[in-house]
Amino acid sequence: MSGRPYRGRFAPSPTGPLHEGSLVAALASWLDARAHGGQWLVRIEDVDRPRCPPGMDTLILSQLQDVGLQPDEPPVWQSAAAQEARYAQALASLVAQHWAYPCACSRKDIAQAIEALGGARERHGELVYPGTCRCGLQGREARAWRLLSTAMQPATGACEAPDLVLSWVDRRLGAQEQNLTREVGDFVLLRADGLWAYQLAVVVDDAWQGITDVVRGEDLADNTPRQVRLQQLLGAPHPRYLHTPLVLGDNGEKLSKQNGAQALDLSDPAGALGRAAERLGLRLGDASGQHHSVSDVLGAAVAAWQERLGLPRG
Ligand code: GLU
Repeated sequence: MSGRPYRGRFAPSPTGPLHEGSLVAALASWLDARAHGGQWLVRIEDVDRPRCPPGMDTLILSQLQDVGLQPDEPPVWQSAAAQEARYAQALASLVAQHWAYPCACSRKDIAQAIEALGGARERHGELVYPGTCRCGLQGREARAWRLLSTAMQPATGACEAPDLVLSWVDRRLGAQEQNLTREVGDFVLLRADGLWAYQLAVVVDDAWQGITDVVRGEDLADNTPRQVRLQQLLGAPHPRYLHTPLVLGDNGEKLSKQNGAQALDLSDPAGALGRAAERLGLRLGDASGQHHSVSDVLGAAVAAWQERLGLPRG
């Protein structure tokens, strides 16, 4: 935040090649970094390794290169041993502070516990964990680690504690609020399959890389309170957030790898960039036309982004 030199990042999960939607997110984060005279990094978010086909990371890096989006530092892979050690250290700190606890519940256990509570504790198709293991494992074996999502820790012998309502400000969406306890519940930090959860990895990495500004797609906006909470508990700085509009496919759904978005057509990189800039609402004037180079389009887009932010053109 203020006082720290601007550092932004693009953090793709290499589950598929870049498509038109992810190019918009990449371009927005690059433009914001350039417009502020800051640095722009690329982080390959491959913690969920089984979902990342081999070679997808290098394909994404070469797609970024083709559209002239060059990181200022060598990319970082979340699967690197050094990163994993940092996630383990963060979990150990949360455990030592009694904000993280082991959980023995399978999906089936969670579904049954929810059913017993009257059902309907779901969010984006995910079950909101009812907190069964907050009071201990009752002799069962730990499978995962979760973060206690309440405002305070429960009193000795109790399992409930006051709700945690988190507020944060998005540069585009404005003031936001979420009741983390009710809407999200105690979320996973280390999964039953031994993989680190995105929420923990992203917070540790943003802090370690000195990221001051997170610019990413709006579909990730409601992860932000979980990340803000982890920043608070880990003593990590709070970056500024800007969530960009989503690109919808013809079916009106978010364009994503999961719903079969086509890989970027890079036979005309300048054209692809021009379309991405348009989706961000930037008017590039002459440079949006055909026969322009990638650097013409990028230069015009930076100027348009600076104008939008009211920053002096540099
Ligand atoms: N890796 C996430 C994704 O590709 C983005 C994470 C982030 O920008 O915080 O959806």
